Amino acid sequence: MGRGSSKAGVGKFGGGMSGGDTSATVRSSHPLSDEIGKGGGSFANEIMNTRDAFEREFGSAAKGINLSVATFNDNTTLGAYGGDTLYMAERYVKNANLTDAMKAGAASGFHPGIGNRTGAEAVASHEIGHRLGEVAAQKAGISQQDIVARAASKIGIKTENMAGFISKYARSNYGETIAEASADVYCNGSKASKASQAIVAELKSILK
Ligand SMILES: [Zn+2]
Repeated sequence: MGRGSSKAGVGKFGGGMSGGDTSATVRSSHPLSDEIGKGGGSFANEIMNTRDAFEREFGSAAKGINLSVATFNDNTTLGAYGGDTLYMAERYVKNANLTDAMKAGAASGFHPGIGNRTGAEAVASHEIGHRLGEVAAQKAGISQQDIVARAASKIGIKTENMAGFISKYARSNYGETIAEASADVYCNGSKASKASQAIVAELKSILK
């Protein structure tokens, strides 16, 4: 509370336990559905609607994701994905500042723009992107870097340059490149970066 939005804007996503990024550690968590009827209903609805939208778009690859609210080991992590669970930062459940934070993060190029989406939708679509990247890599028997490489070859961009067309955070590693592409396309549709659109198209072709 009281945190300046520009500072919160550099808040990172946790790729979590199973291979996204860095330092996100879940200290404690509870089911997202616990928030319904306790003042966190609209936040919960945004997350559930995002999950449902991905299920419609990607079918079984996006099914079976548990939705949780978590406190993390730091104050900058906005969300994380690991062990089939999407964790959203508890401090934003009843706090609209997440949208301001994501807009500030986009303004600095740290994350893609969020279009008309809310911060919660942007974070959730990033975390679900981790799931899609992991499932697609497993299904195709390739790495997440290979997925980005396939997308890159289709639009004539070098693999190592793809992330630079998406966001600063996308440069962290190829898992984050895919997660950021997922959020970019979910939030911006046909206005998303061509690199993001190519990555999401590659995910779809693998996961069909
Ligand atoms: Zn991530």
